[in-house]
Order: sequence, then structure tokens, then C-alpha cells
Amino acid sequence: MGSYKKSLQLIIDSLRLLPGIGYKSAERIAYHLLSLEEGQVRTLANSLITARQMICVCSECGGLTASDPCSICSDEWRQRDAICVVESARDIDTIEKSGVFKGLYHSLNGLLNPLQGKGVEQIRINELMFRINNLKVAEVILALSSTVEGEATALYLAGLIAPLNVKVSRLAAGLPAGTSLEVVAPSTLAAALRHRTSFG
Ligand SMILES: [Zn+2]
Repeated sequence: MGSYKKSLQLIIDSLRLLPGIGYKSAERIAYHLLSLEEGQVRTLANSLITARQMICVCSECGGLTASDPCSICSDEWRQRDAICVVESARDIDTIEKSGVFKGLYHSLNGLLNPLQGKGVEQIRINELMFRINNLKVAEVILALSSTVEGEATALYLAGLIAPLNVKVSRLAAGLPAGTSLEVVAPSTLAAALRHRTSFG
């Protein structure tokens, strides 16, 4: 294998870490990256490294932040007895953009998915239960995708929270089945949050 092929292979292997990128896509992107000017590649590489160094995960909500705890968790004006549970840090930003929710968030950083080895210990469920008890939470809103994994996770969480005398609600119907929160328009999400319903 020529030396350029080894370098190319390294790029392909790295790109395959990205969600939804299979070998063919990784290969296509790698060739494209190598067709860019060196300055463009340097900007891309540096932006990734800088962001990775600057940004960390909030130890409380699991969202992205430059300082821990994040600005939402440390904001005393936020409603502290309501927690909106989401799959990812990205969902926190999406819901914030809708401007409807003024409470706290909790990102699970994943969903239950036994086939992919994601069990209760692999997502931030223990941290959530700790916060529910610690913050004397009155309402937990499950804002998870309406996928099989999202539904299974919501059902599991509702069962865990039920004995705690805490209201559990979910986004209003209107998000099509199989929809990930990431693809929902902020206005749709805002309506789904405003008209949230009791779980179960
Ligand atoms: Zn936070």
C-alpha cells in the first residue's frame, strides 16, 4: 500500500466515528477533504481541536458548556423544580431556541438500546434520579424522540419516577412516530411542549 493510501485510510477510519457515516460515505468525504486547499483543511482541523479544548460537558445537565456548571444550571432565575429530559446536548439547544421552557434540562447522552450495548448504566439515568431527589423536582418532562428507543427509554423512566410522587409528562402528540427531536421545527417543538400531556 502506497504511503498516501495509509494517510487516506487514517482519515476514513476517523470519519467512521461519525453517526450515520458508513465506509462508502467516509471514503467520499475523505477524497473531498483532500481536494480542498490546505488552508481550508487547516481551518477545519483547528476549529475541531479548539472547540474540543474549549467545550466540556456540564456535570449536572450533560449539556455542552465552556464552564461547569453551565449557564442554565447556574441560572438562579430558572424554574428549578421542572426538569426536561432529552437524548442529547443538541436537543437542549433546540428546545432553548423554542423559548418555551424555563426549567432545567437533563441530557441522557443516549437512549436505551440493548442491541447496541446501551443499558441503564450507559446513559445518565442515575444522575437524573439523583437530581430529581436533590432538587425536589415537581415535574419531569420526557422530551425524547418518538422512536422505538425513545419510547422504551421514556417508559422505563416513567416507571422509575412513578413512586416518587413527581408529575411525569411527555411532549404532546403531533410529532410523527419515528421522529427524532433533531428534525422537528422549533415552532412544532414549542407547541408540543406547551401542550404536553401526563405520561401513561
Ligand atoms: Zn448544565
